[in-house]
Amino acid sequence: MTADVVPPELLEIPSAQERRRLDRDLCAQLLDRLLRRLARQEALCRRVLGRLAQHFLSKRAHQRLGFVRLDDFARERLGLSGRELQELARVAQRLEALPALARTFAEGALSWSHLRLLVSVATPDTEAAWLARARDESVRALEAAIAAARGVPPDPDERTLDGEPRARFHLRCPRRVRRLWRHAAELASRMSGARLPAWRAAEAIAAEGLASDAADAVAQSDPLAPMRRDAAAPLSPAAWEAIAEALPEPVERLTLLADTADPFQLDARLRAAVRALQRIDFQIGRLLRLVAQLRLHRAFGLRAFPDYVRERLGCSCRKARALLALDRRLAELPALAAAYRDGALSLTRALVLLPVVHPDTEAAWVERAQQVTVRRLVDLVEWALEVEEPGHPAAPPPAEGMLVLPPVQMCARGADAEVRFAGPASVVALLRTAIRAFTPRGAPPWQGFERLLLHVAAEWERRPRHRDPIFERDGWRCAVPACTARASLHDHHVLYRSRGGDHARNNRVAICAAHHLNGIHRFRIRVHGVAPHDLTWQLGVRQGRPPLMVTHGDRYVQT
Ligand SMILES: [Zn+2]
Ligand SMILES: [Zn+2]
Repeated sequence: MTADVVPPELLEIPSAQERRRLDRDLCAQLLDRLLRRLARQEALCRRVLGRLAQHFLSKRAHQRLGFVRLDDFARERLGLSGRELQELARVAQRLEALPALARTFAEGALSWSHLRLLVSVATPDTEAAWLARARDESVRALEAAIAAARGVPPDPDERTLDGEPRARFHLRCPRRVRRLWRHAAELASRMSGARLPAWRAAEAIAAEGLASDAADAVAQSDPLAPMRRDAAAPLSPAAWEAIAEALPEPVERLTLLADTADPFQLDARLRAAVRALQRIDFQIGRLLRLVAQLRLHRAFGLRAFPDYVRERLGCSCRKARALLALDRRLAELPALAAAYRDGALSLTRALVLLPVVHPDTEAAWVERAQQVTVRRLVDLVEWALEVEEPGHPAAPPPAEGMLVLPPVQMCARGADAEVRFAGPASVVALLRTAIRAFTPRGAPPWQGFERLLLHVAAEWERRPRHRDPIFERDGWRCAVPACTARASLHDHHVLYRSRGGDHARNNRVAICAAHHLNGIHRFRIRVHGVAPHDLTWQLGVRQGRPPLMVTHGDRYVQT
């Protein structure tokens, strides 16, 4: 749909030898020019997405389409987070009240980073003053100024989680301990009623462990190591020169009469805009990797690569890191590269696949990833990582059916696995503290981790809500495909009792309250078949036309 900005020969990955022969300055100029055009296209694409998202959100269209959570819709259909969609809509909405900002952005004189910062603080009275500031200040300086003006920490989305510095947790351990960690994290999700990221599960586990008598010898003083603050880089004011770059017309046209589009049309338009965005991102990832490898940011007097991304391109550093990680692997994975570039696989699906995919198994995984929901794909990848032997990449397990783990060998070859995640520094410190409290003197830390996890899992499994046979069977998760709700589950009869359905377990299924009341019993969702493994679902049911999607379990069915 979108014509590529980058000529095809530049999208070829140069060999190490070719890289050595490149003229750095020339290369820097060329790549920079292309990257800035791409960044501008990306920003315009985001604006289109934002306008569509605005209408989508105001109509609560995801509910009509059979989704309870915006996040589930965004992940499954667009490969974005719900938060990102809301953020895009927020920028679009604020721009309506800020004509000077809107005009300057339309002229190509504001990067997306500048724009999203400015709309968070500017009012019709102050927008001119903020714009003047944005012209001679770096994104980083502007961010600090806005934070000071609002009295909140700078941009929580960019560098930190929950407004705190990020830290990494990493522990080598036997596989059985890693499996135990996943089990405890799963229990933590159930307890909270929502899918928790690893660091949130770690927080709950550490808190539970530290609250018990088992952790008598808790180290009292485990102060948070002071985080090294980046000294403000003396950046020359990187003024954003206007870039006149138009989006291809089909993408611009997606916003036409968007206010009258129905939820199904908005879904289709959002997906088209995301596909265009992905094509741009593929090119950005490839060129950025070259900039990073050749350290071309130095040609612009910028010390670090993230400074280049933020100041010259006005892109999110987090996004750039993801694109780089993806592109690093895509060199040896042509099928995944093609599927991602053409939009057959979303960024989310591609990133989920990365840890497990290998040149030998690539084709099978790429195919499987298009057949199932994102939540099922996550399960498949976790299973494969668990059973895979070193040097033998695992093929994808079946799209449907139970995933059974082989029994753990008790004579595991020592610490041959690892647990790692990133999260707020205080959470990592908390978990380390809890582990220490459970570690016998002189023993390796993984033994403490194992004891902590065993204790917490036993504690949580004892609690009465884990006894319902239907909920237990369905994994304490709403059975509607792509739904990640774990709270307020209802026991629904597949064939209604009023129509002769019985109370046998194979006629009952766990469904979250919102899906039960707003989905099933308002006819936006339909389910028939035999629980738990032979259920066919229709989401976004409408009269006279096929539903938005049909699945058998979490596997898509062609309609
Ligand atoms: Zn019901
Ligand atoms: Zn649900």
